[in-house]
Amino acid sequence: MTSAVSLRDLSCVFRSAGKNIHAVAGVDLEVRSGEFFTLLGPSGSGKTTCLRMIGGFTLPTSGHIAIHGQDVSQKPPYARPVNTVFQDYALFPHMTILDNVAYSLMVRGVDRATREKKAQQLLETVQLPDVGQRKPVQLSGGQRQRVAMARALISEPQVLLLDEPLGALDLKLREQMQSELKSLQRKLGITFIFVTHDQHEALSVSDRIGVFNLGRLEQVATPAELYQSPATRFVAEFVGAANVLQGADARRYAAAEVLMIRPELIGLALDTSPERSAAARTHGTVAEVQFFGAFWRVLVQPEQGLPLLVDLPVHGHTQVPQPGAMAHLSWADEAMHIIEAQP
Ligand code: ADP
Ligand code: MG
Repeated sequence: MTSAVSLRDLSCVFRSAGKNIHAVAGVDLEVRSGEFFTLLGPSGSGKTTCLRMIGGFTLPTSGHIAIHGQDVSQKPPYARPVNTVFQDYALFPHMTILDNVAYSLMVRGVDRATREKKAQQLLETVQLPDVGQRKPVQLSGGQRQRVAMARALISEPQVLLLDEPLGALDLKLREQMQSELKSLQRKLGITFIFVTHDQHEALSVSDRIGVFNLGRLEQVATPAELYQSPATRFVAEFVGAANVLQGADARRYAAAEVLMIRPELIGLALDTSPERSAAARTHGTVAEVQFFGAFWRVLVQPEQGLPLLVDLPVHGHTQVPQPGAMAHLSWADEAMHIIEAQP
């Protein structure tokens, strides 16, 4: 199977204030056809630069980009079978929604009846069949975002690039749009390359995720693999909450230099609780307790080593740990994920 997008040793160096900024540094990546692929990483890690190079808005300093087997490394945006949805959707305020969606067909000289029919179909696809005659200002943020999607899809791109398209929406709407985006992608069957700094968003929408750090890809994996088996300490700490133990702290529990335990895999028993286990791996004092709705996040300071995060499901725990209480911590061998030494 040919890749939808293939990046070979792709780099981009910016020159700024007399210094070289390696925004993207030697990225190799194969995005499969029909995949929902996410570039995840902190601000400034090179996600947007990478996406702009795929879209043709920034040319690589070195390396190659192929789309469905065709080298497009030096081609302008319009000569690539991709389209981009940016965070600021930039709809034309004076045009109707229908004209906004039909815009790229108008530029290409497609006749009015044909382009309006197609635009209306796309508005139906993004579940906005009745807004064609409105102006952008008459829509909510989430609706405008869907119009921006329809506008990008009308040129029938093989690959859709999305740079933090949900970033401006509030949490509730963002979560709703995440699931809509996912089902839209499934329905259309085209490849999505999606950029976000939000790990929850990445885990919930993606088939696979590439984690960026300082312009490099640290790991490419499915959401479950990333969460359960992070390849590096950076990935362990960026994706989900993690207890990362290093050196003597790690060797206390396993033959490893670096290991990770997810907070929800640690059991906690209070001194007073009947299920207090003699098999506890360590004991400590509760330092802080935070309520997260479905669970309590408890910070425990063991007798030795760094504090550990423990997530206790609220359901089934009648006794809420209080700061200062004595806690006994236990976990299965399988809960310890060893992170191999970094090269
Ligand atoms: P992200 O999208 O992950 O936040 P970017 O790709 O926007 O990261 O930026 C990566 C790095 O490149 C940052 O250090 C940023 O400041 C720098 N950068 C991005 N665009 C330019 C530019 N046009 N000129 C100079 N530096 C840039
Ligand atoms: Mg960005």
